[in-house]
Amino acid sequence: MGVRCSCSLFPFYSFFKFLKGTNDMREQLEQMRQQALSAIAAATTEEMLNEVRVRYLGRKGELTGLMKGLGTLPADERPKVGQLVNTVKDEVEAQIEQTMNRAREEATAKRLATERIDVTLPGRGRRQGSKHPITLVIEEVSEIFAGLGFSVAEGPEIEHDWYNFEALNFPPEHPARDMQDTFFVENQMLLRTHTSPVQIRTMLKQKPPVRIIAPGTVYRCDSDATHSPMFHQIEGLMVDTQVSFADLKGILTTFTNQLFGQKTGVRLRPSFFPFTEPSAEVDIACVICGGTGCRVCKQTGWLEILGAGMVDPEVFRHVGYDPETIAGFAFGMGIERIAMLKYGISDMRLLFENDIRFLKQF
Ligand SMILES: [Zn+2]
Repeated sequence: MGVRCSCSLFPFYSFFKFLKGTNDMREQLEQMRQQALSAIAAATTEEMLNEVRVRYLGRKGELTGLMKGLGTLPADERPKVGQLVNTVKDEVEAQIEQTMNRAREEATAKRLATERIDVTLPGRGRRQGSKHPITLVIEEVSEIFAGLGFSVAEGPEIEHDWYNFEALNFPPEHPARDMQDTFFVENQMLLRTHTSPVQIRTMLKQKPPVRIIAPGTVYRCDSDATHSPMFHQIEGLMVDTQVSFADLKGILTTFTNQLFGQKTGVRLRPSFFPFTEPSAEVDIACVICGGTGCRVCKQTGWLEILGAGMVDPEVFRHVGYDPETIAGFAFGMGIERIAMLKYGISDMRLLFENDIRFLKQF
């Protein structure tokens, strides 16, 4: 109405536009107020409330836009309508703030409820780890020999044939090599079948006297209740100008007494190893039955625990030692066997299955 007016009608039109503009704006404002309040009421999270705030009160918000539109009103109406817009803005702002606080409180209460800790519940125990029986035996044996003046030596597990066999007086094609089923790698490299190559490496590096023990992992193609393709040995070597078989027996008796008890009987039986001459198997009185005979010692009263002997002169020649002026003894034992006897373990496979129920007993 009156939009396409002529200039002669201007005063009339202007008055009309003023009325319409003001009333429109009030109406629009009231509508916006209702919408904003219901949007606030519908909002359940802080994010939703923030969206409402941006939509109505933000720089490009609807109420802000209305404020900018005040300029189209006559000057004397502007303050009144402006005040009205401000009142609505304040109301919306206050409503958002109030709802926001409530939403925050509810969120906190909810979080507290879900994170509630029942302090009367018993604590969750943290189980303490323990050392593997193999490690325990290696440590104990190493400690006993440390007390006898032996130091610990180590060598590679992938070894050259020369160190593992030839230098230890196992010539190629020698039947003694069949005693040790070997895992061959390639180009004369193999997984060491015993810790004896560490003796060779030590003697090549060091002039006598030598007093070492060499604990470590060894490998043979063998697997059943009493054999594992991977197992552990401790090898010992003592070389000096005056070392006799009596020293060997003395050291090993001291060792077995410390490991198994003061009154453990020890006996030596003749045996054969390519790298020692003479050689002996060392038995101890059965730690299970005390020597009267049982299933473990196969009714003999004795348990074989060690192989030993005087170092063969041929081995000394391989490492550049003079067998005329020096002598030495060597011995070796299976750590699994010692662990089984010491802790009364009946099946060797238990040592490698890593069953926690078994391991936590140590
Ligand atoms: Zn026995």
